[in-house]
Amino acid sequence: MMRVVLLGPPGAGKGTQGELLARRLGVGRYVSGDLLREAVREGSAAGRQAQGWIERGELVPDAIVTGIVTGALSRDAGPGFVLDGFPRTIAQAEALAEFLGSRRARIDAVVYLEVPESEVVKRLVSRRVCPSCGAAYNLHTNPPRKDEVCDRCGARLASRSDDDEGTVRRRLRVYEGETAPLVEWYRAQGVRLLRVNGLGSVAEVRARVRSALGL
Ligand code: AMP
Repeated sequence: MMRVVLLGPPGAGKGTQGELLARRLGVGRYVSGDLLREAVREGSAAGRQAQGWIERGELVPDAIVTGIVTGALSRDAGPGFVLDGFPRTIAQAEALAEFLGSRRARIDAVVYLEVPESEVVKRLVSRRVCPSCGAAYNLHTNPPRKDEVCDRCGARLASRSDDDEGTVRRRLRVYEGETAPLVEWYRAQGVRLLRVNGLGSVAEVRARVRSALGL
């Protein structure tokens, strides 16, 4: 059973590849952004605290996110999982290592999806998501069959409110400052770090991810 962290800037394809990888490994997938947006929708205490940061494209405080993600992991994670969007700071990575250590577990591999900034801005501003089933589309590279309608469930597609260009640029600055240093941190911890070129089609990147992991 494998425990994998997906790392990479917003728009690198973590959601798409995480879903494919989790299915391939037969493990659950934990997406911090989805868990946070769900908490906001439900209006829970954590969700109310998180909302402003999400809308501004800043990081939600470590304690809130860590609580939500480790809570979800302890409720239903099996021996393997794919983490997408978490950890995003060194403090979160330390909290995760401690949480796993208390269960005699550790991260087996970090898959680092590398995509240049100019490309991720393009991808995010043309991203559409299904508010009902969570499917993701791109108007240029992966459009729905019917304009603005989800292929899977027929709901009307939407843009994420934090996918406007200004907020995307802020999220990228935050990524560079807070999250990119995790690559070095995991390397120093001796965790298997797999750099994968995130450019190209979904199938091409999926093949690279699988071969990097030896699947
Ligand atoms: P994402 O869906 O991964 O792009 O995340 C959307 C937003 O949720 C981010 O811009 C942050 O405001 C918040 N968020 C998601 N994951 C984390 C995390 N691990 N730490 C802090 N904030 C997060």
